[in-house]
Amino acid sequence: MSGGTSGTRTADVIVVGGGIMGAATAFFLRRRGRSVILIERGLVGQQASGVNFGNVRRQGRFLPQLPLANRSRAIWGRLPELIGEDAEFLPSGHIRVCFRAEEVGELEAHARDVLEYGLELEIVSGNALRMRFPYVSPDAKAASLSPLDGHANPRLAAPAFGRAARRAGAIVHEETEVVAVEKLGEDFVVATRERGEFRAPAVQISAGAWAGALSARFGEPVPMVAHGPQMGVTEPVPYAIEPVIGVYSDIAEEGVYLRQVLRGNIVYGGGLRGPALPDIRRAYVDPANTLRQLPHLRRVVPALAQLRTIRTWSGIEGYMADGIPVIGPSARVPGLFYAVGFCGHGVQLGPGVGDVMAELIDTGATTTPIEPFHVARFAAGTGGQVQP
Ligand SMILES: Cc1cc2nc3c(=O)[nH]c(=O)nc-3n(C[C@H](O)[C@H](O)[C@H](O)COP(=O)(O)OP(=O)(O)OC[C@H]3O[C@@H](n4cnc5c(N)ncnc54)[C@H](O)[C@@H]3O)c2cc1C
Repeated sequence: MSGGTSGTRTADVIVVGGGIMGAATAFFLRRRGRSVILIERGLVGQQASGVNFGNVRRQGRFLPQLPLANRSRAIWGRLPELIGEDAEFLPSGHIRVCFRAEEVGELEAHARDVLEYGLELEIVSGNALRMRFPYVSPDAKAASLSPLDGHANPRLAAPAFGRAARRAGAIVHEETEVVAVEKLGEDFVVATRERGEFRAPAVQISAGAWAGALSARFGEPVPMVAHGPQMGVTEPVPYAIEPVIGVYSDIAEEGVYLRQVLRGNIVYGGGLRGPALPDIRRAYVDPANTLRQLPHLRRVVPALAQLRTIRTWSGIEGYMADGIPVIGPSARVPGLFYAVGFCGHGVQLGPGVGDVMAELIDTGATTTPIEPFHVARFAAGTGGQVQP
């Protein structure tokens, strides 16, 4: 099977939504020789995938998600070879810092739990913490280091997958809104506002925070709400902070995170979320949230007190009721697939989700377990709980 020309109206697969999930899926489907039409309402990577914090983090995840996160991490390390650019992925390490004695035990327990998934974490405390991460507050009790995690530039990653998919033969229609998806006989008919109808025997819905309306049409409504994580960036200063730093705490307001880019700016986020309105495609920074973030950022890296914030922003992210995404086939409609609802932790997973979805659509099965993310967990009668 091959790619096609922009006049092509049929393909093996139509991917709805060109965030990192959709763009990566289109790329990996082409590597498997499947013809693909990727349809994006705006520009590829314009929504959550382009405005996020850029955390390529595995530690702290829901444990059954780690095989997928590991698969994704391997792809992050191969981006230049696969898509011809690195999206500024820096395997700088990622530390989770705690300030309470009882939290040290929790970080240690997590380090034990993730070992069976092949993730090796190191708990650093006392003098070692001060020596290795001198910018971290002396009040910190310990840090959990994931040495092979890091960060990337979200502005670059999804568009790079989109361009690579197109080079590999995918048809990519930007500024094209899908207004209806229906199954007629063996094929799906995907109607767009700007370019008419397209047909394919398989459709992936990867429409981010907007996916609910599309899945509901197939009798699979998902309990998704939109929120806007709150981001900011400081003026540039000489590069000094290598790892991504996150605060480990049960208190939402304390859970801030930061990373320094090689150009010197410190990007930060976390704490309380702000309002996001998918209907008008707007997410807002609540200035009160920024003011709440600042003391918590200074708490973990006191030197940040001297820096000015030069910009704040937010974006629209879909959060599921149970805190984990929907990844996999429809429970009701053969040929329909979902990759939606990434609950603020989709960046790291993006390339792996694209790879695993392409495998699933191409072969009907996956070598990486994704059952806990099946949409059927929201079917009537399960109370929206994750099934084992
Ligand atoms: C401010 C912010 C900070 C974040 N920080 C992090 C972080 O540090 N680490 C992390 O792991 N995750 C983070 N996330 C979450 C992460 O960005 C998302 O989980 C991830 O980008 C989701 O990718 P996606 O492709 O599913 O969604 P999106 O990027 O939202 O892509 C969905 C696409 O579908 C398109 N679409 C929707 N409806 C239609 C339609 N009808 N027709 C055609 N196209 C349609 C949209 O235009 C959009 O481009 C953050 C998110 C935000 C908003």
